Amino acid sequence: MLFEVTPRPRYIEVEAWGREGTVTFPTYVPGSYVVRELERNIVKIDGFRVSKNRFYVRENFKYTLYANSKDQREAISTHDYLFINPPAVFPFQDKDEKYCIKLKVSWPVKTTLREEKDMFCGDSYHEFVDSPIQASPALKTISIDESHEVSTVDDLEVDRIRDVIKEIDKEMGSPQKYVFFFRRSDRNFGGIEHADSSAIVVPWDKNDIVTLFAHEYFHRWNVKRFRPKDLELDLEVEAYSDLLGFAEGVTDYVAVLSTLRARGTKVEDIANYLANAISKLTFPGARMSLAESSRTTWIKYYKQDENFLNTGISYYDAGMLMGLYLDAKLRERGANIFHIFRNIPNRYTLNDIDSYLRKMGIEVFEDMIYSPASNLLNYLRELMEIELIDAGSPYFGLLMDGSKVTFVEDGSPADIAGLIPQDTILGFDEIARAVRPKPVAELTISREGRIKRITITAGKNPGHKVKFRLKGKVAQAIASLDELTGISNINII
Ligand SMILES: [Zn+2]
Repeated sequence: MLFEVTPRPRYIEVEAWGREGTVTFPTYVPGSYVVRELERNIVKIDGFRVSKNRFYVRENFKYTLYANSKDQREAISTHDYLFINPPAVFPFQDKDEKYCIKLKVSWPVKTTLREEKDMFCGDSYHEFVDSPIQASPALKTISIDESHEVSTVDDLEVDRIRDVIKEIDKEMGSPQKYVFFFRRSDRNFGGIEHADSSAIVVPWDKNDIVTLFAHEYFHRWNVKRFRPKDLELDLEVEAYSDLLGFAEGVTDYVAVLSTLRARGTKVEDIANYLANAISKLTFPGARMSLAESSRTTWIKYYKQDENFLNTGISYYDAGMLMGLYLDAKLRERGANIFHIFRNIPNRYTLNDIDSYLRKMGIEVFEDMIYSPASNLLNYLRELMEIELIDAGSPYFGLLMDGSKVTFVEDGSPADIAGLIPQDTILGFDEIARAVRPKPVAELTISREGRIKRITITAGKNPGHKVKFRLKGKVAQAIASLDELTGISNINII
């Protein structure tokens, strides 16, 4: 198919050439596990609607799409900027045929699609949708080194990014050419991976972005080259895998590891990030396994509510800790986490990873994937001292944002007393002051505007505030440090 694209503020107009028949707009974008229904952005199309995302069209047809998203997975068109993640904009007919785009702008354009006369092309829909398209009169390229660059309209300091991706390239090899499509925004923080590029959007005040760059960059290998066999994304129907803890979590671990080794961020900040992930294993939601967290991502992780710490675990957090454990164990045996990728096929199964690890004398992988994530605490204790520094202290079981309750731990005194998230605590023992644990307290709360009084009796904190110490050979092997200490900052009252 061929798409001729005319951007205008907030809308993208497309004239398309294909075959008379059905075109299908993807309902989600690869690399992101939630059905976004981006086809909802079609405002006008010359065609007959067959279903929510399929249309019967003639050989040549036009459509108009609303494009005003600040999300790196979607599309934005303004009077001086255009960013397109292709699956959010272009439909498919036969996925195996060639797809090209012709851009009707006179601005500089950046994409990793192949340039062909006045067009940019991919040999299949899969290839075509795997490169963003960015254009602006102010578009510039910031070179990181001979094979990596940043395409952006903003400024970016790339020295630390260079050091961190070098750590990954040292193990996996350099690409021919890799592009980070980068943008600052007033909201959003995130990235999405492609084979030869990634798209990253971060807020203006966020400086700590090296680990995010490393995460998306390592996806070039884990997810793009190597992928769980059951994660075949068909663009219309959810795909289920047990292994996002490996695909995403281990990618996150490699991002943390390479940032740590290159000293790309303050060591203390990385250590505290690890401590926070460990802290989450102490909450009721850690009864969920990594496999279940992965399989339910479409309806749970990507649709988190205020109760998530009671009901689920992030496969990023738990998978990252699994990565740390496996890396430490592999290093004891003269290998490291990267060696896994040299020993599994491009479309891997749990068995492929498990067989390699067993060959190395590590027989825990299946258990880590299928048993409750809280078990990871026991594994991690083989590597490090983990102290729950608030265990046994008086507590209510609340997380607060100012005077607002943001989380109530299941079975905690706050739960028994009847507090629920979104309650605003107006008075603590008749005084407008912050909540603090004491044996018995009288709370005055506002719930949906109604004033209520609640008596709460403190209980014993089961222990959520984590302090870990990674010492000796493990700390040396992983971070070239004598000791790595982190403290979590999830402060439950
Ligand atoms: Zn990722």
